[in-house]
Amino acid sequence: MYDIIIVGAGPAGASAAIFSAKAGLKTLVLDNDKGMTKRAWIENHYGVMEIDGPSMVELGKKQALKFGAEIVETKVTFVGEAEAGEGLVVETEGGNYEAKHVILATGAIPELAENSGLTIVDGTEPRIKFVAEVDEFGRTSTPGIWAAGVAAGVSVHSIITAGDGARVAINVISEIKGQRYVDHDVLKA
Ligand SMILES: Cc1cc2nc3c(=O)[nH]c(=O)nc-3n(C[C@H](O)[C@H](O)[C@H](O)COP(=O)(O)OP(=O)(O)OC[C@H]3O[C@@H](n4cnc5c(N)ncnc54)[C@H](O)[C@@H]3O)c2cc1C
Repeated sequence: MYDIIIVGAGPAGASAAIFSAKAGLKTLVLDNDKGMTKRAWIENHYGVMEIDGPSMVELGKKQALKFGAEIVETKVTFVGEAEAGEGLVVETEGGNYEAKHVILATGAIPELAENSGLTIVDGTEPRIKFVAEVDEFGRTSTPGIWAAGVAAGVSVHSIITAGDGARVAINVISEIKGQRYVDHDVLKA
């Protein structure tokens, strides 16, 4: 049983995984390598002069791995309540996993949210047709399933989707720990 399973390893998903794993939570990322960021050239991400999308995605995954996240390449086909009644089941083309919480960070591909029976709403951003309906914390219509990044309807920019993945992960971590969570490292002497 994972504490958090994140579907998608783009800026939103990898950023969520960095926070989740660094918080000491058992974290799994499932991704099928079909994200939009792999086609981007980025010069508007704060703190980064310029970077190609594939490098940003690889760096994000490497950072998540550094803090102990596991990453498996597979397509997720369904997320829903486990039959046993505790937690969530995540069905993939390579087998099933279980988690207490799931964050969908699936970018512009709404298929998984639709197939999992989440409430879907029209997207507001250019070329984004549908997104998962979320509350102010990132919760979807199914308890335990959260959404972040383009999949949750935020502006289609890497700094915003990465920030949103972090924001939603902090909300999940805070719920698990029972108090607001903050992750601050201090300048080394
Ligand atoms: C051509 C282009 C140029 C761009 N240029 C810029 C730019 O200059 N500056 C800027 O800020 N932004 C730019 N962007 C936008 C930026 O890439 C996105 O806003 C943002 O980074 C998307 O992040 P995300 O994590 O939400 O989605 P994505 O990066 O799309 O990641 C979603 C991930 O979920 C995975 N996934 C989806 N469904 C499943 C499933 N069922 N099972 C397993 N995995 C799944 C995908 O494989 C993917 O890896 C550009 C985008 C494009 C297409």
